[in-house]
Amino acid sequence: MSEVQDNQNDPKPRGKKSNADLLALFEAGDTDNLTTDELTRVDALLALKQRKLDLEDVTGRIDDRRKKDESRYSAFRSRGRELEKTKRDQSLQQKHCQHSKGGSGHNLAEGTDVYRSVIKHIMPDGNKWVRCQRCGATWKKPYPQDYATIVKPGEGGSAKYSPLTPAQQEKYDADFKEWQEACAFKTDNVESSGITFSHTSEDGNVTARNFVAEVYRDVTLR
Ligand SMILES: [Zn+2]
Repeated sequence: MSEVQDNQNDPKPRGKKSNADLLALFEAGDTDNLTTDELTRVDALLALKQRKLDLEDVTGRIDDRRKKDESRYSAFRSRGRELEKTKRDQSLQQKHCQHSKGGSGHNLAEGTDVYRSVIKHIMPDGNKWVRCQRCGATWKKPYPQDYATIVKPGEGGSAKYSPLTPAQQEKYDADFKEWQEACAFKTDNVESSGITFSHTSEDGNVTARNFVAEVYRDVTLR
């Protein structure tokens, strides 16, 4: 092969090693005959190779993380569906329940006694809560702010609520009436009571009562 033909087929200056050749020599530990220039190139090639590996590593980790997030999300969703179903079942059961004692014993929802199967409980703010022992339905004194639209999110519990709209007022009134009716349920169960606070705020105890009610409103009797 003449030198002219060689140059036509290979545009690289004669004797210049390819990147692959340089890396192969490096892998083989055969770097003794490399020039300073070639060693600099090996160094640069290794840095590039490392960056490529780092990138693959990061991409892999992102991929793993995404897969993990997806599986966690799907677990959440299925748990959420389960909870929703339980809630639906329970609400159906509570709608069907007579909240009364007696009945055949097979179907707790179909109590026939004049006495209701409820426990009345005096909460620490002095208000009465009523819970059905058969279906778990609980009647709590409703609070207007739970029906209102929040205008300003609270900082340290200082949320501002807009006045109730007619629809909100109607819902509140209905729940209040239902709670009052539950309080009046006839039962031979003994009323229970926790510690009731003795109120000490100076505004006719309004602040103290509201504080205690606020603390207890999300509590359940389960
Ligand atoms: Zn019930």
